[in-house]
Amino acid sequence: MTIGFDLDRLIPPYVKSFEAYRPSPPDTELCRLYGIERLHRLHNNENPLGPPPAARAVLAGFDPARAALYPSGDSFDLRAALARRWRVDPDQIIVGNGANEVIAFAIKAFCQSGDSIVTADRTFAVAEWIARFSGIEARLVPLSDDRFDAGAMLAAIEPGTRILFVCNPNNPTGTYWTAAETEDFLARVGGRAIVVLDEAYAEYMDRPDYPDSRALLDRHDNLVIFRTFSKAYGLAGLRIGYLLGSPAVVEAIRRTAIVYSVNGPGQAAALAAVEDGDDHLVRSRATARAARTVMEAGLARLGLEVKSHHGNFLMARLPIGDTLAQRRLMRQGFSIRPMTAFRYPNWIRITLATPELMETFLAALTGVLARR
Ligand SMILES: *Cc1c(COP(=O)(O)O)cnc(C)c1O
Repeated sequence: MTIGFDLDRLIPPYVKSFEAYRPSPPDTELCRLYGIERLHRLHNNENPLGPPPAARAVLAGFDPARAALYPSGDSFDLRAALARRWRVDPDQIIVGNGANEVIAFAIKAFCQSGDSIVTADRTFAVAEWIARFSGIEARLVPLSDDRFDAGAMLAAIEPGTRILFVCNPNNPTGTYWTAAETEDFLARVGGRAIVVLDEAYAEYMDRPDYPDSRALLDRHDNLVIFRTFSKAYGLAGLRIGYLLGSPAVVEAIRRTAIVYSVNGPGQAAALAAVEDGDDHLVRSRATARAARTVMEAGLARLGLEVKSHHGNFLMARLPIGDTLAQRRLMRQGFSIRPMTAFRYPNWIRITLATPELMETFLAALTGVLARR
């Protein structure tokens, strides 16, 4: 098709050079393509237990008539419940359409074209992508021993650096900074930049030395915490994430937040999940832990190198290409995450689901690797 105007001239160079992320096709399409009856999703770190019972009840009882009405434009009730839980003011919280959206809000609030953010080279890449397609430099610091490298991140700060992103624990390596390490990092950054701790997997942590980010907030006005309902809360399909920070920092970010981006059923289900307490989180954590035990033993039997630390996922290095493994596993009904795009060629990331499903997966993987 020819276009009757000079489209090229209208696209900024940093958008032109950016390649769009292509999400995987829907399950129905994948089942048709690979000739399978059903797909076990192990590529997105979803919760195999699904949503907590209280959230299920709210969703089942959601009045269809309310679909015609705009929801609260700033997730009023959900922020109130989160504020009680965190013991902060509701104005210290912004809810977004997934944590992905609050990443964009934060970058828009603090960075202009030519500024930079600093993060790791092998981590959840959404902050890097948003920066790059917004004309903001993403300074990527190599992980050291699969961990965020505090010293190298500090060294990467330049006068235009506005935000430092730390994924804790890190997706995909599962490593984390302790409270002492995080505190030390914040002290050394001082007030030079905003520090974001992306705690998407915090609910899966069971280490006493994992940072108490609420306590850190009291001491560091430049700290912003990201949380999500997509992982341990089992609400990924409803797209709810949030950030919290000091009143002044959150007030700045609110200016760039899109109002009404969070849908009504999502707000209601997340509210019920928060008010339901911790039972579901405890069960989700225990399930992931049991799955990890099964997977570590099984992958060791296969003689594979693994990175298995925290979160509801682990990584394994395969003797065949990761995308070849992906196709073969698909034919067995399992989706996994090939890690070449995360700069880990021939590694795959696998969601820790139930122990039973992990046994089935290991059997499929054994078959896939035997066919060499
Ligand atoms: C899954 C994930 C998120 C965001 O999830 P949303 O579904 O957008 O809330 C953010 N950070 C990390 C590290 C993640 O793994």
